[in-house]
Amino acid sequence: MSASDDLNAFVTRCDLGGGDGPLDDLTVGVKDNISTEGVETTCGSKVLEGYEPPYDATAVERLKDAGARIVGKTNMDEFGMGTTTETSAHGATRNPVDTDHVPGGSSGGSAAAVASGDVDAALGTDTGGSVRCPAAFCGVVGLKPTYGLVSRYGLIAYANSLETVGPMARDVETTARVLDVIAGEDDRDGTCNAETDDYAAAVEQPTGDVTVAVPDELVGEGVDEGVRGTFDDALGTLRDEGATVREVSMPSLEKALAAYYVIAMGEASSNLARFDGVRYGPGGEGDGWNEAFADARARFGDEVKRRVMLGTYALSEGYYGDYYDKAQNARALVRRDFEAVLDEADVVASPTMPITPFEIGEALDDPLQMYLADANTTPVNLAGVPSVSVPAGRADDLPVGLQLTAGRFEEKKLLRVARGFE
Ligand code: GLN
Repeated sequence: MSASDDLNAFVTRCDLGGGDGPLDDLTVGVKDNISTEGVETTCGSKVLEGYEPPYDATAVERLKDAGARIVGKTNMDEFGMGTTTETSAHGATRNPVDTDHVPGGSSGGSAAAVASGDVDAALGTDTGGSVRCPAAFCGVVGLKPTYGLVSRYGLIAYANSLETVGPMARDVETTARVLDVIAGEDDRDGTCNAETDDYAAAVEQPTGDVTVAVPDELVGEGVDEGVRGTFDDALGTLRDEGATVREVSMPSLEKALAAYYVIAMGEASSNLARFDGVRYGPGGEGDGWNEAFADARARFGDEVKRRVMLGTYALSEGYYGDYYDKAQNARALVRRDFEAVLDEADVVASPTMPITPFEIGEALDDPLQMYLADANTTPVNLAGVPSVSVPAGRADDLPVGLQLTAGRFEEKKLLRVARGFE
């Protein structure tokens, strides 16, 4: 039994790939919402129990072609909806740093498997922080690429306009090597038409003079004292390496979390309509279509049901203008604020998470508390820009992540700064 089994990091074990290639020295875990041909892929949900995709996601196909060995599917919050990996139908994953605490979410299984040393790298998905949050909570590196750099083909959708597939590893170099392989244009995802680049070579180069912007809105109210202290030390390290650190204001960020949840839930309510026991998932029981449909959808967990209802409400006639339209307007402002700040600075820095990891069970019955923890990660997804969490030290003996964010398709610069900090 490996460390990951005690932690409940994997939901299915497999052995795929493993030929010759640039990643033939790596073992990799793949989040359970990324399709693997012939290997059960459940999105952490009872609704997809027994589902074996008939094809590989593009990212998986490219990992296999590059010689990586895919050793299992990792646990996650149901359909990616959560910040702790506790909403999984497979039970909670534990944080290898301190097993009384959550690993973060929703890619908590991927982060725990990497942090425990069970795999060299993992794929996660990040819709509102699900790569960066667990990376921060488990003390590993996690990259959310620019929207459109990594194909979403074969990713089972939660919120299409926000989500990305991203690599996680114990160091920036391995993260960059995995990105080299999975990035780049794909005919099967119309939003993915950027060229890939040599990210691993780029991280070897010196950082040069870097300007770091720190938005007031991401370091103020709601940020734990211990996290703030560790973040200030991280800024000190960046300064020692020659960076200029500037405080800035991005007023739209005050609206970002609310806008994120309206948009994410709206898209989720529409995406999850297909899980009706006819098109996908085990068939429901009952007399007639309505009963069978209701029975099939009763398999969703509470958090998913909550979001489908709220999302349906926000998109319904009469409310659309009050919620969805306003959220889209806020999204445009967030994008503009990032563009303006990143015109003057190389990267934006903040704590990845305003808090240290919750204890297991602490936040599960308090969705609002859980959503508030996403305040620093969600604006990045609204803007579509790349962002990485790197280990910054500890507060109360628990890991704290430094979040660095750059302009669209500036992964080379971003990873170089992250490598310089490491
Ligand atoms: N915690 C956020 C949510 O529940 C982010 C999830 C994600 O990135 N998949 O929506």
